[in-house]
Amino acid sequence: MSAMNTATLPAMDVGARVAKLRPLFADAGIDALLVTFLPNVRYLTGFTGSAGMALVTADAMVFTTDGRYRTQAAEQLDAAGVDALVEIGATIGEQRAAIARALDPGARVGLEAATVSWAQQRELVAVLDGHELVATEGLVERLRRVKESGEVARIRAACAIADDALASMLPRLAEGPTERDFALELEVAMRRRGASGNSFDPIVASGPNGAKPHARPTSRVVERGELVVIDFGCIVDGYCSDMTRTVSVGDPGPDARRLWDVVRESQVAGRDAVREGVECAAVDKACRDVIAAAGWAELFAHGTGHGVGLEIHEAPRVASTARDTLEAGSVVTVEPGVYLPGVGGVRIEDTVVVTPDGADPLTEFPKDLQL
Ligand code: ZN
Ligand code: ZN
Repeated sequence: MSAMNTATLPAMDVGARVAKLRPLFADAGIDALLVTFLPNVRYLTGFTGSAGMALVTADAMVFTTDGRYRTQAAEQLDAAGVDALVEIGATIGEQRAAIARALDPGARVGLEAATVSWAQQRELVAVLDGHELVATEGLVERLRRVKESGEVARIRAACAIADDALASMLPRLAEGPTERDFALELEVAMRRRGASGNSFDPIVASGPNGAKPHARPTSRVVERGELVVIDFGCIVDGYCSDMTRTVSVGDPGPDARRLWDVVRESQVAGRDAVREGVECAAVDKACRDVIAAAGWAELFAHGTGHGVGLEIHEAPRVASTARDTLEAGSVVTVEPGVYLPGVGGVRIEDTVVVTPDGADPLTEFPKDLQL
């Protein structure tokens, strides 16, 4: 085992991103965008702190945070090659005042409607008196949907760590650990390999617990011959990985094997459907058709997948109701599952990059049912 060195990851041109954001302003009916959702702030500035916001106008960017982050903000924006005026405000009120000073009179200011709370919106109305506040939807998220090569490299690195951590941990399953102990040791294995943390709390769901798609690990002991759903991921330099495998120590019996075979076939169909220009809903349908043919349509009660990046769940969604089309450079999961209440479940998930030729897998851990 060798821990990965994040210093060897390729550089990202964070400073160039804001120039791709401004062309979206006209359609959104805004002169400036106040970016307050932290993953979006990070995307545009490289800032990783827990408080800060960025105002993007037609020709400038103002970044503001509090005194805790004075040094960090200057260092990170500089390292990211971001050209912005950095304003430190002791209070959120002072920070908002700095934003207000940077705006032309009467400017139409976009707010990120999906994440600005009612309380924040009311406060901003007061501070930005004389400006028109406009609700916007997913402008920065629109850019984030298509990953740069440096972003893909980070997700690939996170996936490789998860693959390696699972390889080290699967023999442990035969010793009959509790779900909780196995999950904890899997987390540690990823951290030792260089991950900064989990991309979400791992799911280790054995036997009947596997019928709950988002089960939390319990003190239940993993038994031989039962299905165990393991869904987990880690973070490398801010970027997430996501993978699910369903395994059994020894033979789980014909019913479980059939369940697993159908989900495996569904997952292959979904992966094969992924390609630039394909509708997300078509990928979902490819997975769903296989499960429906087995008579279990209603037991696959979640979407097929989601985008992965700075957030574990981001655009585009891969679901029957999605209206998006896959773009080259998007990173999405394909994760069909079938869940039999009281009995157990199977889910198999890969994270892939969309290319003109199909899906380039980032999670490469073997798919074998039996250990
Ligand atoms: Zn997952
Ligand atoms: Zn997922």
